[in-house]
Amino acid sequence: MDVILLGAPGAGKGTQAKALEEHSGLVHVASGDLFRSALRQGTELGMLAKSYMDRGELVPDGVVIRMIMERIAQADCHRGVIFDGFPRTIDQVAALTVELERQGRDLRYVLFLKVPEEMLLRRIAGRETCKTCGSTYNVYYFPSKRPDVCDECGGRLYQRNDDNMETAQRRLGVYFAQTLPLIDHYRTQGLLREIDGQREITQVTQDMLHVMESNGSHA
Ligand code: AMP
Repeated sequence: MDVILLGAPGAGKGTQAKALEEHSGLVHVASGDLFRSALRQGTELGMLAKSYMDRGELVPDGVVIRMIMERIAQADCHRGVIFDGFPRTIDQVAALTVELERQGRDLRYVLFLKVPEEMLLRRIAGRETCKTCGSTYNVYYFPSKRPDVCDECGGRLYQRNDDNMETAQRRLGVYFAQTLPLIDHYRTQGLLREIDGQREITQVTQDMLHVMESNGSHA
């Protein structure tokens, strides 16, 4: 089965997707991570994406869709995927729906992580990301044990270029304009499940697993 995690920047999609991957055996596919990894490798895709990411804008649909379709066609994704950061526009939804159907896949849930706007900015501004493994921390809510060092792999922590206040505000604006309509779309499809994303990290994970195991009630 496949699962989509929906939510604003800073809602905790990456953190929760990693936890769900561990508990469920599904494969975490994060569009932002794929772009950042392409950038680290110095590929054309990475350079193109950087120009949009640094401005807090969306990478054009055609580019993102191609990248995600290539990723989910890989063998490890056959057992099921947790989509994180994709889809973000109605056109991306349309492309994903066609492809999932073509591959005979089963999109079971769209988990919507609900977090109030004022908390989102604080979460983004305090976020630190590991250069090596991509794990995330937060200087206010979830600091690493040693400053600037990843608990998981010992890699160095850095602040993403797009995690400054100005770009974060633009990303939120883009989210409200382009991604929020997806909530209604998936609600109408009967796939949406709302999760309270304000709670403790482990509690949110439990809530998501509970929905996935119990076939959850409709939002
Ligand atoms: P994220 O790591 O999900 O916060 O994504 C970081 C940035 O990557 C976004 O602000 C966009 O510039 C780009 N990006 C990630 N996913 C998508 C997507 N599905 N569509 C367009 N741009 C994306």
